[in-house]
Amino acid sequence: MRDILIAGGGPAGLAAGIRAAQLGLDCAIIEPKPAPIDKACGEGLMPAALERLEALGVRDIDGHPFAGIRYVDAYDPARTATGDFARPGLGVRRTELHRRLSQAADRAGVERIQGHVDQVDQRASHVSAAGHLARYLIAADGLHSQIRRQLDVALEPRRPSRFGVRRHFRRPPWCDRVEVHWGSRGEAYVTPVGPETVGVAFLVPDGGRFDELLDHFPVLAARIHGAESVSKARGGGPFEQRVERRVVGRVLLVGDAAGYLDPLTGEGVALGVATACAAVEAIAADAPHAYERRYRSLTREYYWMTGLLLEISRRRWLHGTMIDMLDRVPPLFDGCLALLGGRARN
Ligand SMILES: Cc1cc2nc3c(=O)[nH]c(=O)nc-3n(C[C@H](O)[C@H](O)[C@H](O)COP(=O)(O)OP(=O)(O)OC[C@H]3O[C@@H](n4cnc5c(N)ncnc54)[C@H](O)[C@@H]3O)c2cc1C
Repeated sequence: MRDILIAGGGPAGLAAGIRAAQLGLDCAIIEPKPAPIDKACGEGLMPAALERLEALGVRDIDGHPFAGIRYVDAYDPARTATGDFARPGLGVRRTELHRRLSQAADRAGVERIQGHVDQVDQRASHVSAAGHLARYLIAADGLHSQIRRQLDVALEPRRPSRFGVRRHFRRPPWCDRVEVHWGSRGEAYVTPVGPETVGVAFLVPDGGRFDELLDHFPVLAARIHGAESVSKARGGGPFEQRVERRVVGRVLLVGDAAGYLDPLTGEGVALGVATACAAVEAIAADAPHAYERRYRSLTREYYWMTGLLLEISRRRWLHGTMIDMLDRVPPLFDGCLALLGGRARN
């Protein structure tokens, strides 16, 4: 019998597999889609994500470095604030990230099975899923986790739903930071992902078509006017997923499946990798319940800061005040970034 079955081979599932192999555990990942998997994502890897990926042996990712984050008033290009990380982040096409993680998993000897986990059956000494047995199952099956639903640990969201849609444009990046344009419809993210490509992602309360949303961000629309679109629009959401607990018998929830608030702070991959590693380490120590406490400590700042920014997002009149304040006190912005993805925490 294997030590761990992992449902889902996105960043969190692959990270769990690699960490399990590092700790000498026998595991397999079950994922329905062939690699490399694309997905709606802002594609900004924060320094904490890079640090955690390096610890898993995932290096030499092909992307475009960014020094920090720039907040921009969606209607006034002169109103900006810039914060920097202690070390750069990296804008990376999602397919490249998935390719690198998959290669690292293969190098580590992690078995990858094409399949779909429908039903999880828990017994006193093991779990079974998709025809395989293991001592534990890690659910890394994403934002709308079917396994989380089966375990009946989902809670009602506290805030109105938000959705995202992203697309890429062939155009040299004009900024060496990830730009976040604050507007009345929501936020637009611009991430440099290559010397000739930028990704644009909208995060908005009620969804919408990409072109229609772009009309609400005039400063950004002027920047990408005439640039060739080089990918189809991809959407995601609703984002907020609250979870009562993440350890249910022999099943541990990680990554987006473990709970999510919003991509506003760009920490999804960093937290997916961090929570996946924490769950595997708890299993390796034969103390699966220790994972719940680790989860809370790893995600505390994320929930707090993202919640605060969501409140600001809903109040258009606060956007300019926030940008001006961060512009006037640069150490404040740098300090917030240090808390948000600036470095990996335990
Ligand atoms: C618009 C948008 C912008 C974002 N911007 C950023 C950003 O800039 N930086 C950042 O770090 N994060 C960002 N995120 C968040 C980030 O994309 C996620 O947090 C991250 O992908 C979570 O990884 P995961 O492995 O938990 O889930 P996923 O990447 O969703 O992977 C889950 C996997 O599980 C598989 N699966 C599903 N059901 C089953 C099943 N029943 N059995 C087996 N397999 C299954 C799926 O096929 C999928 O491959 C953004 C998200 C969105 C939507």
